[in-house]
Amino acid sequence: MTARLGIGAMLYSQAVPRPALKFQEFIPLAPYTTFRIGGPARFFCEVEGEAEVEQAVGFVKERNLPLFVLGGGSNLLVSDAGFDGMVLRVGGAASKRDGREGESVLLEVGAGENWDDVVLYAVNRGYAGIECLAGIPGDVGGTPVQNVGAYGQEVAETIVQVRAYDLETGAFVNLDYEACRFGYRRSLFNAEARGRYIVTAVTYKLRPGGEPALRYADVKRHFAAQFERGEKPSLRQVYDAVRSIREQKGMLAGQGGPDGRSAGSFFKNPVVPSTALPQIAVNAECSPEDIPRYPAGDGMVKLAAAWLVEQSGFHKGFAMGRAAISSRHTLALVNLGDATAAELIALRDAVMNAVNRKFAIQLEQEPVMLGFSSTR
Ligand SMILES: Cc1cc2nc3c(=O)[nH]c(=O)nc-3n(C[C@H](O)[C@H](O)[C@H](O)COP(=O)(O)OP(=O)(O)OC[C@H]3O[C@@H](n4cnc5c(N)ncnc54)[C@H](O)[C@@H]3O)c2cc1C
Repeated sequence: MTARLGIGAMLYSQAVPRPALKFQEFIPLAPYTTFRIGGPARFFCEVEGEAEVEQAVGFVKERNLPLFVLGGGSNLLVSDAGFDGMVLRVGGAASKRDGREGESVLLEVGAGENWDDVVLYAVNRGYAGIECLAGIPGDVGGTPVQNVGAYGQEVAETIVQVRAYDLETGAFVNLDYEACRFGYRRSLFNAEARGRYIVTAVTYKLRPGGEPALRYADVKRHFAAQFERGEKPSLRQVYDAVRSIREQKGMLAGQGGPDGRSAGSFFKNPVVPSTALPQIAVNAECSPEDIPRYPAGDGMVKLAAAWLVEQSGFHKGFAMGRAAISSRHTLALVNLGDATAAELIALRDAVMNAVNRKFAIQLEQEPVMLGFSSTR
């Protein structure tokens, strides 16, 4: 934990003062989630700036309330009963600051900024490093939490500092890259220190004039004709390509229709020892070469959860009541309209149990659960 940059404090404390904070009661949470599911929050408050964060925390501490920090609600399943505590929505007006560090740009952004807007901002200025993370819903504050990643990039590659309020010490801290303990869809914030920090700003280190990342097969395929002509795609072209690929899969921020009422991929891609491949092939009645996988280091491989789900008898569009598998992407569970959290969970369990029965692999879910007696 260091005060490496120490500029987050300025960024967030300079928010324009607002009238007294509003602590609302019994606010339905469904509209604040991309699933559009969930009951009310006992208390709800939207904060902008560090002073308001402290004020809201004071309210919570005085009443000894459980606290949940909400961003864009795009990785969240809220229970039908709602949440008997305070939901603190970290908002914020436009709050971006570009600084230089040698050849790099340090882009510091307030937690309440929309993530895709930040990616576009960076791409339009020619800053490389996050272009493949285009079209992911949610806010900046959520990006370090599960170390968002897609199409060969993850946000941890660029994060140099996370500024946060530490609920344990009651002080703001600047956490550097090491302190954040990033892993695959993992960080300090969703693992060992879950619930301890309120992220208020994130600093990304980007490469001005850098080349776009072209690591992922779907992205490379998109530019096949351009490559043949010997042309390299620009950052903006990669940004647009990723958004278009995501749209075809129903995985684009703000996309409408039932496939849009999801939390993105519901299951993480499991990482298993490569020695497990022969048995997986036997169970799938295929040859080990046909198992979709990516190297994960140390003799491990990352399997495609979507493939495991399909091999276990599920298909795009499969429905149980008003919950379904997306018609465009096997990994996304969707709300067909007025689905309850209970229906979503019944479908989740059916999928997880089938994969476990067939492959002895326990899928892990990505979305965070709120208002349930267990986090799974
Ligand atoms: C269509 C779709 C596609 C998606 N594609 C991807 C993808 O490609 N890759 C990927 O990684 N994810 C993906 N996601 C998941 C999701 O968009 C990301 O995890 C996103 O970063 C969540 O941000 P959020 O602001 O919506 O967080 P929320 O859903 O509001 O919260 C998620 C978690 O982060 C915590 N949190 C949020 N803000 C803060 C804060 N300021 N301080 C402390 N904790 C906070 C919450 O408490 C909660 O635990 C997708 C989701 C959807 C709906």
